[in-house]
Amino acid sequence: MFKPLDINKNEENKSTQSTDVEKVKCLIIGSGPAGYTAAIYAARANLTPVMYEGLQPGGQLTTTTEVENYPGYPEGVTGPVMMEDLKKQAERFGTDIRWGMATKSDFSGETHKVWIDDEKLIEAEVVIIATGATAKYLGLEDEKKYAGGGVSACATCDGFFYRGKDVAVVGGGDTATEEAMYLAGLCRKVYLIVRRDVLRASKVMAERTVNTPNIEVLWKHQTKGLFGDDGVVEGANLVKNLGEDGEEDVQIKIDGFFLAIGHKPNSDIFADYIDTDEVGYINTIPGTSKTKVPGVFACGDVQDSHYRQAVTAAGSGCMAAIDAERYLSEKSA
Ligand code: NDP
Repeated sequence: MFKPLDINKNEENKSTQSTDVEKVKCLIIGSGPAGYTAAIYAARANLTPVMYEGLQPGGQLTTTTEVENYPGYPEGVTGPVMMEDLKKQAERFGTDIRWGMATKSDFSGETHKVWIDDEKLIEAEVVIIATGATAKYLGLEDEKKYAGGGVSACATCDGFFYRGKDVAVVGGGDTATEEAMYLAGLCRKVYLIVRRDVLRASKVMAERTVNTPNIEVLWKHQTKGLFGDDGVVEGANLVKNLGEDGEEDVQIKIDGFFLAIGHKPNSDIFADYIDTDEVGYINTIPGTSKTKVPGVFACGDVQDSHYRQAVTAAGSGCMAAIDAERYLSEKSA
């Protein structure tokens, strides 16, 4: 059974750790599948990892319902239960899991400095960044109202629940077209809601999308809101040609509303010291989890704009812990 996090215990930790400096061997920042897997491997390698969970303990998966594509759960598992299992596994080997948010970093010296909640300073021999990425939403009240009732930011995670139904995808980039294509294989009809009259996606994806019979591209449409019953989406209110001649309201009936307007990797506080791409995804040395700063490693969605799956995040968390362990061994040799 999923047990809610013990907020009181976490608050206790928070209050006893303020305004001091603590030296640790291995600091893991972030608690999604990447962070927990890094913790399991690091703890079993005697790195005595300290993990700060961040604002959303368990990461993005705690906002999804059923996870059916993570190996080892033949009957599926809910995101929160899976994260609680991973957390228990990390704790079993001695990971010190704490409530707190990394707010600043300084990777200029021999030891790596990370501030937690702007007050506590951690000096770590190695840092594993597993801070994930946050899906962008349109900012509509209805996205919150229907969260878990038809609104999703991951077609690969949730598309299966809409088999044979009608859904909409918002966005015109590679993610939106890829997700629309994926959903077109499962759903009866997919509306692609595009705010301009052109797709940002690569030519090949754009062509494939517009040529898929059960995808209807709604050019120059924007979403005003959703409607439904008892917290479950039944449709979307759109506007076509907003602010132009021919502006008109359009209503579509849908069961699922998928956001695909981009992700924001949570890398801002490290950006002065490590390289990122133009969006903010951390650049790692190909085939490794190493950043350009020796002793600082990155795993999971904060460094992966491409796959963004729980299982790939977990795999890269394992890589980060192994890379960290080897770095420390070589340093002390
Ligand atoms: P992008 O930033 O490329 O595209 C975002 C899309 O969402 C754009 O079409 C944009 O519209 C639209 N959008 C943004 N904000 C809003 C809004 N408020 N309302 C309506 N529409 C909005 O993000 P992606 O996630 O698609 O891709 C990120 C990166 O990852 C890209 O470099 C992409 O190429 C890459 N990628 C590659 C894949 C592959 O190679 N297989 C798969 C997925 C991603 P507009 O065009 O008008 O700005």
